Amino acid sequence: MHINRTWKILATAAAAAVVAVPVAAFAHGGSGQDDRTDAAKHAIVGGKARNVIMLLGDGMGDSEITIARNYQVGASGRLAMDTLPLTGEYTTYAVQKADPTKPDYVTDSAASGTGWSTGHKTYNGAISVLPNGDPLPTILELAKSAGYKTGDVSTAEIQDATPAVLVSHVTDRSCYGPNTMGPCPTNATENGGAGSISEQLVKTHPDVVLGGGSTSFNQVIKGGADVGKTVFQTASASGYQLVSDASGLAAANLNKPILGTFAPGNMDLEWVGPTPTATGTPASTCQVNAARNPAQPHLSVMADTAIKALDKQSRGNRKGFFLQIEGASIDKQDHAANPCGQIGETVEFDKAIDVALDYQKQHPDTLVIVTADHGHTSQIVAAGSTTTGVTATLVTHDGAPMTISYATTPFPGSQQHTGTEVRIAASGPQAANVLGVTNQTDLFFTMARALGLHV
Ligand SMILES: [Zn+2]
Repeated sequence: MHINRTWKILATAAAAAVVAVPVAAFAHGGSGQDDRTDAAKHAIVGGKARNVIMLLGDGMGDSEITIARNYQVGASGRLAMDTLPLTGEYTTYAVQKADPTKPDYVTDSAASGTGWSTGHKTYNGAISVLPNGDPLPTILELAKSAGYKTGDVSTAEIQDATPAVLVSHVTDRSCYGPNTMGPCPTNATENGGAGSISEQLVKTHPDVVLGGGSTSFNQVIKGGADVGKTVFQTASASGYQLVSDASGLAAANLNKPILGTFAPGNMDLEWVGPTPTATGTPASTCQVNAARNPAQPHLSVMADTAIKALDKQSRGNRKGFFLQIEGASIDKQDHAANPCGQIGETVEFDKAIDVALDYQKQHPDTLVIVTADHGHTSQIVAAGSTTTGVTATLVTHDGAPMTISYATTPFPGSQQHTGTEVRIAASGPQAANVLGVTNQTDLFFTMARALGLHV
């Protein structure tokens, strides 16, 4: 009785706090206590979409979402990503390179990204090529050829697996620039190939590219028509405005192609906090990362700019745009067993989702998809407990302790991806195709159908 009353008071307080969160909470589905039958029927829309905005939280499994929700808005609160009306799960497995008839149960972002961007399963490390190395057309390339404007945004170096699978085809994900083509000899321009991920990105030429990764663009091309030039020089010659900081991005001409690289490698983290240990940590909170370079735009700002630019560039056309937005460092901070790093990136990714949902309110002919590419390590365990790995305890929005465990690799080694299915949620035309249990390869066909592409 007493416990029950306390719970109700806490729940009411949390619900009141949620109202202040600037997200469209329950905008589509209503609360769980209402009959949502009509809302669900209303959310199912067939036909074509003018625009597709796909948002991918790298390594953002259900556990990572729950951790960020508990911390930021409380257990009964809802993030922007929780308000999408139609939700399913998809399987993420890769296939074995030596025997592609056999699954590789734990995927990386390259194989999973090849899956959702081309509709084909491949091996870990492959960037939009089949296990035999043959290139596969990607959703971005197909959308571009069909007359849509296209964009690719990430907080990682833009050559990282998720942004790379949309714009390039190499046999190994590490082939970022002309100087790092060792693992991809057949793709190197000096051997007659199409070049590194950076070189192919420029040739594919999405209308908006924003992220980190300037290092590889500064490398000199070693073969083909552009031999002797840096990749940046070819980008500039091909019509890109090159921007390198937030003020440059704010001043960019949104009517023209933009290549923004805001860091030599990955972009800086939003938050910092306690390092987990084998014996746990005192309960504490996350802090804004004071060392973050303020000249780097936040992901939500990059998302807003990309949407505005693609909207402008496609104005007056029946065909709008395809845009991918990745919150990349959720995965990277899960690998690093850094709970506040991971949560800060998830919260900023959620702000980018909010930007996309705001655009969709004004442009309902937009399909918005929020998903992940694979599961990851972090788990919520009993408050204050220790595990065979390392734990840290945070005080959440609820004012309650939440203990997070990282235990897939002995600390401080890089924590591992996991083979679980992950959430896929959507709203807009064709969103019903995420319902139930699908495969990450099915997402390619859902997006292609929404855009009316022939595949
Ligand atoms: Zn990873």
